[in-house]
Amino acid sequence: MNGDSPREACGLFGVWAPGEDVARLAYFGLYALQHRGQESAGIAVSDGHNILVYRELGLVSQVFDERTLSTLQGDLAIGHTRYSTTGSTTWENAQPSFKTDGERGLALGHNGNLVNTEELAEQVGRRGPATTDSDLVASLLAAQGRDLETAALRVLPTLRGAFSFVLMDERTVFGARDPHGLRPLAIGRLEGGWVLASETAALDIVGAEYVREVEPGELVMLDDRGLRSIRYADSPRAALCLFEFVYLARADSRLYGRTVHEARRGMGRRLAAEAPAPADVVIPVPDTGHSAAAGFAESSGIPYGEGLIKNRYVHRTFIEPTPGLRQRGVRLKLNPLADAIRGKRLAVVDDSIVRGTTTRQIVQMLRDAGAREVHMRITSPPIRWPCYYGIDMSTREELVAAGMPVEEIRDFIGADSLAYLSLTGVVEATGAPADTFCRACFDGAYPIPVPERTSKHLLERD
Ligand code: SF4
Repeated sequence: MNGDSPREACGLFGVWAPGEDVARLAYFGLYALQHRGQESAGIAVSDGHNILVYRELGLVSQVFDERTLSTLQGDLAIGHTRYSTTGSTTWENAQPSFKTDGERGLALGHNGNLVNTEELAEQVGRRGPATTDSDLVASLLAAQGRDLETAALRVLPTLRGAFSFVLMDERTVFGARDPHGLRPLAIGRLEGGWVLASETAALDIVGAEYVREVEPGELVMLDDRGLRSIRYADSPRAALCLFEFVYLARADSRLYGRTVHEARRGMGRRLAAEAPAPADVVIPVPDTGHSAAAGFAESSGIPYGEGLIKNRYVHRTFIEPTPGLRQRGVRLKLNPLADAIRGKRLAVVDDSIVRGTTTRQIVQMLRDAGAREVHMRITSPPIRWPCYYGIDMSTREELVAAGMPVEEIRDFIGADSLAYLSLTGVVEATGAPADTFCRACFDGAYPIPVPERTSKHLLERD
């Protein structure tokens, strides 16, 4: 991943496990999902009577410490890491959202983006300080004045867009996915309980055994009655975000029965066959480029090498860099290994190009470090269409490929050659049929109709 990749979605975790330290399980689950959102983190727990929520801006490890975790005692919990796809980065917009009428409480974490927010906002009269569509849904659920299961079955069918939710009341953890299943959500089994997580890597970290994915259009409930399931809507077709495989999900997570690492390796192999590069060494752009670069090297017979080292912990520091440091931009994140690349022709493998500016900086950095030739190889097609379903590339203006043919992009980024993997190549590498994916940012075929006025800050305007 580099700064030109799409920004992250959100990470969800839920656990029902009486007798376990559920807040600590949620903490480690969120820790495994940190890559999906680094703006805020939060955990809600319930002891069967009361829901307690703790949330704050920052990374999971910055938000929670032993003291805060030890105050969050209970039998069930949900957790959330956020990247803002609607609303601004403020404390009010951190999740889980919490609503109570004094008697009954509910907490909610959302991954995705709704496309009928205006209609929903009218129903609740835009109450409350938070400005996210997630908070709106929490308000809608609370406004039903019913138990959470009944409220969810009333509200979920009225939502349009992409959503995976983890929800809880005082006794039950709920999980739901939109009827197209755009965002992932997996179910895991603990010895004495159940877990929900955006990615299977978060099940692994807490020792939960993968059971299955929550189905598109399904509401699941986890409590002392076990795992229960209700289909709240028909699924016209599955449309998992193809970007989960390309970039969003961790390499060690499984989607549609295949590890993301295997799929990315397959993308690299196919890319080497579709667009060979006259190179001495194949280098990945860390981290997501690793698996694909390995596949590219295998298939092309060109040796694999490390040429860029990631400065792991700088991506979300709250200390602003000086203007001089900021100008150096990508050097804050990546540092070239000059000895490994000097005088060499490089095939540089990355997952995607959104704006093109960071790729351009990377190419320049590699040339400054002595690379003889730089051949960029991208494991997804050009992104020509905005995403309205929760990935932060929502206008055509910010997409370099929306306005330029590939040859012009090559010129803009300053590479000796540039090639993208075909859409068929990406899909084949996943092992799943093309019609089980959303591919709209590549081909413009939106699985859910998109309203004309959709904007990240819609709810902030009058
Ligand atoms: S438009 Fe692209 S990024 Fe957005 S959900 Fe579809 S495949 Fe994913």
